[in-house]
Amino acid sequence: MGFHATVLTLYPEMFPGHLGGSLAGRALTRGDATVEAVNIRDHATGKHRNVDDTPAGGGAGMVLRPDVLARAIDAVCPEDDVRPRILMSPRGRPLTQARVRELAAGPGAVIVCGRFEGVDQRVIEARNLEEISIGDYVLSGGEPAALILLDAVIRVLPGVMGNADSGAHESFETGLLEHPHYTRPQVFEGREIPPVLTSGNHKAVAEWRQAQALQLTRNRRPDLIDRDRNPKD
Ligand code: SAH
Repeated sequence: MGFHATVLTLYPEMFPGHLGGSLAGRALTRGDATVEAVNIRDHATGKHRNVDDTPAGGGAGMVLRPDVLARAIDAVCPEDDVRPRILMSPRGRPLTQARVRELAAGPGAVIVCGRFEGVDQRVIEARNLEEISIGDYVLSGGEPAALILLDAVIRVLPGVMGNADSGAHESFETGLLEHPHYTRPQVFEGREIPPVLTSGNHKAVAEWRQAQALQLTRNRRPDLIDRDRNPKD
């Protein structure tokens, strides 16, 4: 049991990175989650152990070789390994909280981190890699993207968040952005906590939060509301 991630990377020293601290760190220490980083270069052959080569058709940059990457994937995936094989990629399907929940409910993931211009298309097809993007911007490598995906997955594993309820109302979990938060002091630089939150009226608090969440989402992310109405998008 537990969530077991194997990360294929040219920079294994980047793992577990920030996951070693705080909430995720405790999950790793307890063994609820494991993150193993494997150096793709260990699966390169030849005198120079090349992992990349120039792009077919010309152009700038380098491309990760399919043979080296396939060997690395095969080496970490036993035949009966049912874990999804993910490639971090700006061309991938955008990561959502729903996919995060699905991954957290499964046995783990094999995560490939691209570098340079990306990876040879044939290994994506031959090893059935699911391309996942963390947003519409380009990173220099897949490692920070993998750390972000793993952070999101590990924090929703059973027993990782202190209060089991604290995930339920969060942004995206309800299809909406979350309501704003307040804590002491009662007055900060002349700004008061909205009185309803200190009224002790739980029903009024819940209604206020729901209305705030709806208004915030309408203003900032109307696409989330449209997505709910048209689930096919
Ligand atoms: N030439 C590619 C970008 C390569 S960036 C293109 O234009 O699509 C190098 C690597 O960084 C990628 O292979 C991928 O693994 C990672 N990466 C960059 N941006 C990413 C993003 N938004 N989400 C996930 N991974 C990303």
